[in-house]
Amino acid sequence: MSSSCSICTIRTAPDGSYACPLHADELRGWLTELPRQARLLEAFVAPAGRPTQGRAGGTGLAHAPVPVDLRVLALLGPGHLDPPAGHDDDTVPILAWLDGWAGYIAYTYPAVTRDRHGTAHIQPCEQAWPAHGATIASWCAWLTAYIPYALAHPWIADLHRQLDTLLARIRDLTHATPHRHDYAAPCPACQAFALAAVDGQHGITCQACGHHLEPAQYDQHSARFLEGLQAKPGRAA
Ligand SMILES: [Zn+2]
Ligand SMILES: [Zn+2]
Repeated sequence: MSSSCSICTIRTAPDGSYACPLHADELRGWLTELPRQARLLEAFVAPAGRPTQGRAGGTGLAHAPVPVDLRVLALLGPGHLDPPAGHDDDTVPILAWLDGWAGYIAYTYPAVTRDRHGTAHIQPCEQAWPAHGATIASWCAWLTAYIPYALAHPWIADLHRQLDTLLARIRDLTHATPHRHDYAAPCPACQAFALAAVDGQHGITCQACGHHLEPAQYDQHSARFLEGLQAKPGRAA
């Protein structure tokens, strides 16, 4: 039975899912964006160029250390999170957020084991290990792989809201906002010329009515739209 998206409460979520295709796609896009944003943050903390050698008469230090925004250090620092409620106090660091959610998902994800009599036992898989060590990129890849599982739970709305807040804090410092690309064909649902895609997101969304298209669906739709234009009387040469 399909119901409304627990994130926007307007669009319909597919059977067994608590999020509409637009918001599921947005989550995947954000998990792709997060490692890129984190690298930009890390660049603020890295030494800004090597001290020039020899010119300063052997004092050793050519530049005073660049002061780093405390908000950057807080985002890259240690911390702890208890999903799904988590912190809504806007201070949780990136790794703590990822680690907290991966741990929560792993704990609720049913692992089926069989004992020596062949009886199946369902228990939570206690720990989450990303494939390439606990980096921001590997945690994001791990969470992306578990999105289909996460979408089947109402706490997907908490995860979405918290990731939205976290990325807003980071973008505020990096000033790197994903670009929007406009598409030429009108929306098949409301006919407005408002279809657009955002960097890192797979699908195309109408900015007027929120209708969501997969890229292949858009290709078919725009081909039909073009055929329609060319078939209009008086247009042919
Ligand atoms: Zn939605
Ligand atoms: Zn539309």
